Amino acid sequence: MGDHFQRGGILCVVSGPSGSGKTTLCRRFSGSDGNACYAVSATTRAPREGEVDGTDYHFFDRAGFEAGVARGDFLEHAEVHGNLYGTLKGEVLGHLAAGRDVLMDIDVQGAALVRASTDPAIREALVDVFILLPGDEELVRRLQGRGTETPEQLALRLRNAREESRHWPEYRYTLVSADKETDFAAFRSILAGERCRSSRLRIAFGEPKLPGV
Ligand code: 5GP
Repeated sequence: MGDHFQRGGILCVVSGPSGSGKTTLCRRFSGSDGNACYAVSATTRAPREGEVDGTDYHFFDRAGFEAGVARGDFLEHAEVHGNLYGTLKGEVLGHLAAGRDVLMDIDVQGAALVRASTDPAIREALVDVFILLPGDEELVRRLQGRGTETPEQLALRLRNAREESRHWPEYRYTLVSADKETDFAAFRSILAGERCRSSRLRIAFGEPKLPGV
């Protein structure tokens, strides 16, 4: 971006069923792009083995989470698989104001809440992407592949995944998942295109100097 132009940050909301690879896409993009960051969510679910507080999630107990909701700390929150999940405003708003792109991996209820926001900064920044699996068999295969859940948890996730997948038409973009590299290339292309939208560009100061004028 030259001296004369500034771009407003993008708020990229990514949803999809468990096993769709949405977290990996968001993490990989934000980890490889100097202008993007990942909004670490808060949750009341117990940490999985290897998960680190503040990196994978901000782990809260229910009372602490509910106190945060009452204080207005959350941009959105929802109950998913019997636990509370939410995005802290502090993970998003400052970055957007500074022109950085923020990636959020949230469920369809959370995405609907962000989409319904009346805050102009959120409305202008928002891009929503759904990661859809090509069929039911692939959904089951990917859910089983994780191997981190009990059979009951797996059954619940499968029901939720089927239900969640019905929401793809509500998103501006739907990426039908193929393999990791193809998905990442498509995801990067969506963000590259969104970064070029004229409506995101601001003249920082004075008139831009055009060559030869
Ligand atoms: P997991 O427990 O497997 O990490 O996540 C379960 C679900 O919660 C996923 O669909 C994930 O997208 C969703 N989720 C994670 N963080 C948030 C959040 O901050 N808000 C909402 N609404 N959903 C979230």
